Amino acid sequence: MSATAEKLAFEPGGDFIRDTRREAELYLASAGVRLRGRLQLYAKGAVALGILAGSWISLVFIRPGLVLGLLSLAGVTAGTILVGFCVQHDANHGAYFRTRRANHLLGWSADVLLGISSYTWRVKHNVAHHTYTNVDGYDDDIDQMPFARLMPSQAPRPWYRLQHLYIWPLYSVMVLRWQAGADIAALIRGRIGESTLHPPRGWDLAGFVTGKLVFLTWAVVVPLLVYPWWLVLCGYAGYSMVASLVTATTFQLAHCVEEADFTTSAELRASPRTWATHEVETTVDFCQRNRVLTWLLGGLNFQIEHHLFPRVAHCHYPRLAEIVRRNADLHGVRYTAQPSLRAALRSHQRHLRALGRTGVRAEIEMG
Ligand SMILES: [Zn+2]
Repeated sequence: MSATAEKLAFEPGGDFIRDTRREAELYLASAGVRLRGRLQLYAKGAVALGILAGSWISLVFIRPGLVLGLLSLAGVTAGTILVGFCVQHDANHGAYFRTRRANHLLGWSADVLLGISSYTWRVKHNVAHHTYTNVDGYDDDIDQMPFARLMPSQAPRPWYRLQHLYIWPLYSVMVLRWQAGADIAALIRGRIGESTLHPPRGWDLAGFVTGKLVFLTWAVVVPLLVYPWWLVLCGYAGYSMVASLVTATTFQLAHCVEEADFTTSAELRASPRTWATHEVETTVDFCQRNRVLTWLLGGLNFQIEHHLFPRVAHCHYPRLAEIVRRNADLHGVRYTAQPSLRAALRSHQRHLRALGRTGVRAEIEMG
């Protein structure tokens, strides 16, 4: 299967990305700008880890009673989401530090604190999703068959008529699915989408195993020593559902909406396009002016900029967005940013409804 993936290639370069990169490099060339971005990233990482650690210590060691206990659980959930969006994501892209080793070490926070293997994440997210965004069969993020139809080339089924309703409970178990072994299943299959997933060896294997053990210890074993099993079960279910819903929604609003392009390997081979144009037209930004949301989501409401510059600290995305949008307009590349969270959610919902109507091509329905 990997041989197929290697054959699917985009046109290199292009005027749009050449001009965009030149301007972005000029902006990032300033030592002050780079330092400010790095300091913001590190401060945010410290806040995320502090909230998670403080809330967990309060929950497990102080046992503060019902109201403060629920607040502490909310803190654990918020801390986990912040680590996911603002620490492990940047680190596993290589945006946190200068060296690969340091980035991988911090990226291990995905294993230890989220219960998700950073080794498999780097193939699922960095390779399958970032290289082949919204390409059927290649981008694992848009493959939810046979539960949901997320792009027009996927076969229709009668139950997809209700997918705009049941997709939300489905999203709410996403993190649990990965924590419960979806990453191990991917390792056994040896691939994610059409990308090869080699078995981890050496330090990667050690990180994979110890990460699972450390996560199980703090998230399940220690709470079971302190609280009754049913309370741990309820707490874990709540934490994991909220983390899943926030994560899935954030990713889906960027790629699984009416304004995003979807394609297949056959279409790409028949009419090749440059990779940068493909990334911009398969991705949608939202709430670019909302600073609070931008902070909380680790810049993932600026996914166009993230896809073009995944190794740049996410604190720079708002400024890069001005550069990308101007050059997209100049070179005839379709650049879309939803003005509000509501508009983005409605677009996702309309997209799901249109694709759910059995046997009718979504483009005609939406026409
Ligand atoms: Zn990413």
